[in-house]
Amino acid sequence: VARNNAEPEFHQAVREVLESLGPVIAKHPHYAEAGLLERLVEPERQIIFRVPWVDDSGAVQVNRGFRVEFNSALGPYKGGLRFHPSVNVGIIKFLGFEQIFKNALTAQGIGGGKGGSDFDPHGRSDGEVMRFCQSFMTELARHIGPSTDVPAGDIGVGGREIGYMFGQYKRLRNSYDAGVLTGKGLAWGGSLVRTEATGYGAVLFAQSMLATKGETLEGKKVVVSGAGNVAIYAIEKAQQLGATPITFSDSSGYVVDEAGVDLELLKQVKEVERGRVADYVERRPGARLVTQGSVWDVPADVALPCATQNELDGQAAATLLRGGCGVVSEGANMPSTPEAVEAFSSAGILFGPGKAANAGGVATSALEMEQNSGRTRWDFATAEAKLTGIMADIHDSCVAAAEEYGRPGDYVLGANAAGFTRVADVMLAHGIV
Ligand code: NDP
Repeated sequence: VARNNAEPEFHQAVREVLESLGPVIAKHPHYAEAGLLERLVEPERQIIFRVPWVDDSGAVQVNRGFRVEFNSALGPYKGGLRFHPSVNVGIIKFLGFEQIFKNALTAQGIGGGKGGSDFDPHGRSDGEVMRFCQSFMTELARHIGPSTDVPAGDIGVGGREIGYMFGQYKRLRNSYDAGVLTGKGLAWGGSLVRTEATGYGAVLFAQSMLATKGETLEGKKVVVSGAGNVAIYAIEKAQQLGATPITFSDSSGYVVDEAGVDLELLKQVKEVERGRVADYVERRPGARLVTQGSVWDVPADVALPCATQNELDGQAAATLLRGGCGVVSEGANMPSTPEAVEAFSSAGILFGPGKAANAGGVATSALEMEQNSGRTRWDFATAEAKLTGIMADIHDSCVAAAEEYGRPGDYVLGANAAGFTRVADVMLAHGIV
């Protein structure tokens, strides 16, 4: 703790993994040898840099950029870039640490990393976002590469930002390394289904968990938080599978639409106009905007937290459980606090932790890398079938690991144990490095 002072989210993520690994270490004590756990919690490399840029008024702005290259045992570092004012080294380390196990679960040969900046894209013009992205990439380009480190998007980083960063990378390197970034546009190396993958995957994971009880999503009421990339496509897949999502949110409040979310309108407001959730309510009769309490006050059968870390606390979990919620599948990274996870576990409901449930995004990024290497392009159905297969495999690996270590149905233990053993075995094979 002293070594990683003032990094509470990183401590939370490490504690969650290490505490749950007790049964694994007890059965296989060699995993605690060769300093393996000590090496695992120390990033291989952390890069922190200045990002100077000029705003539309001509004033110089300075932000801080980060890339934490956490673990390369299984392949090149892989993980998104987050642009949000709350970003600091502790947040990036927690995300990078989670990413190691998530990427291992996908079985796609990718290591773990994460990066970003405390830059806030809200309210910035396209020109400002472009100049920021170019300055950010001017430093980042020294550290990344298709076989070294392959960033993608995350909060505040979508197709527009990836485009500006790829353009600057190509210019600096004089090399069209399509595989250096994922989440690219379809006309220049992107993969079909990458945009949809994280949200789709979180719903597919919920469906697999329900199937273990002989149930489906058909007719279920769903509460969703967030209104970004993950939330929108979680809503889309839930609708396709016969469920009714009735909420979404952003930092200005949450929307309840009892008739079921009008997805076309939501995409128009958020993806095209880059508006706020209030803009949806203005055009949708019957929908209401709530600015008090939280989206978890709305009773539903299934909850999909798709906004940010620690957005669902112990009290919210108790409210959800009282409202009859029996399934939680995390689209966001670490959205449930430890108290919330404990409440779900005690209640015995189906709980899919983010490192398993939201792994569809990074898995499809690996599929994008595969297409880039082969200079090929799959159609939507092919890419979606691969995503569906990977999500089913992740689910089954979690179930098998939870059973092996004596806690059937515990997806937290299952995800951590299955991800950890894959990374740990390879770290031991590579020696002390
Ligand atoms: P987006 O930027 O597209 O959307 C984020 C959404 O969450 C926005 O509606 C945003 O509202 C809201 N939000 C973000 N921070 C806060 C906050 N502090 N308080 C309230 N609302 C907030 O990001 P993504 O959809 O890509 O990411 C969402 C989550 O999913 C993150 O945890 C991310 O790490 C995780 N994830 C994303 C993957 C991907 O493929 N994109 C892959 C795996 C995980 P506002 O606009 O008002 O800030």
